[in-house]
Amino acid sequence: MSTASASSTRLKLWGVRGSVPVPGPMTVRYGGNTTCVELRADDEIIVLDAGTGIRALGINLEEEFGSRPIQLSLLITHVHWDHIQGFPFFVPAYNDKNQVRIFGYDGVDIGLHEILQGQMAKPFFPVALYDLPGKIDFQKLEAMEFNIGKVRVRSKFMNHPGICAGYRLFTSGGSVAFLPDNEPYDAFKLHSAKSHLLSPEQTQRRAEEERASLVKFLDGSDVLILDTQYTDEEYPSHVGWGHGSLSTAVSLALDADVRKLVLFHHDPNHDDATIDAMLQDARKLAAKSEKYLEVEAAREGTEVALR
Ligand SMILES: [Zn+2]
Ligand SMILES: [Zn+2]
Repeated sequence: MSTASASSTRLKLWGVRGSVPVPGPMTVRYGGNTTCVELRADDEIIVLDAGTGIRALGINLEEEFGSRPIQLSLLITHVHWDHIQGFPFFVPAYNDKNQVRIFGYDGVDIGLHEILQGQMAKPFFPVALYDLPGKIDFQKLEAMEFNIGKVRVRSKFMNHPGICAGYRLFTSGGSVAFLPDNEPYDAFKLHSAKSHLLSPEQTQRRAEEERASLVKFLDGSDVLILDTQYTDEEYPSHVGWGHGSLSTAVSLALDADVRKLVLFHHDPNHDDATIDAMLQDARKLAAKSEKYLEVEAAREGTEVALR
């Protein structure tokens, strides 16, 4: 049974890893499953991304609901494998009592629906998306602001290869920003179309504007779940890969007056000890600032309650 009351907002982290699942003794504390976060707020179940972590969430939901129908909304940031690959193993989709609404933006030249259908097409998977017994309902996003029940959602396209959204969800218990994949603008690397046509000066100006707009988008978030894939030492050799770094993640959270920063999308090569060290470094940076910023490293299975 869920103990969450209608007015409380809570998050549960089911998959915190980027790129590819990495189970094993080196990742046992932070977890090896790829991106999936559950948000419960205002009588809604909102699932953020469908990486391999969604498998365990699905089993858990079936146990919690028993014979009662499950109605949930799945919000997809983008369709890189680490954000969709768990969906074929999401058991609530296999039960005709359940309804799964899938929200997301189309890709550059292919629809979200077609992409999710494609990953379950033969010969990749034995069950086709349209053969799933659950009611699967696609809600193609075009606007950058919409509602899921009483939860208001704002979107922003991230600095990441292809189409990739970040979401900020405004609940009665506070707001949560979910930016699992985003490269900082600090290195002046832009992933947007035609950015290669800009001069270095134009690129720098655009990057500064984009960062300012991201700070505004995040301003005052209670929780920011943010791509922090690389250490500061690793990032220079990964500029252009579409992912974040430690000190840029902390500075973004500080500039946006975020209350709690959750380091997320851990690199598959980072073992538990590396993530421990990154967390300590991030906390030191936060402590040096004048502002109050709580920092955690995302750990599979943990819950975060807002007020
Ligand atoms: Zn990713
Ligand atoms: Zn990605």
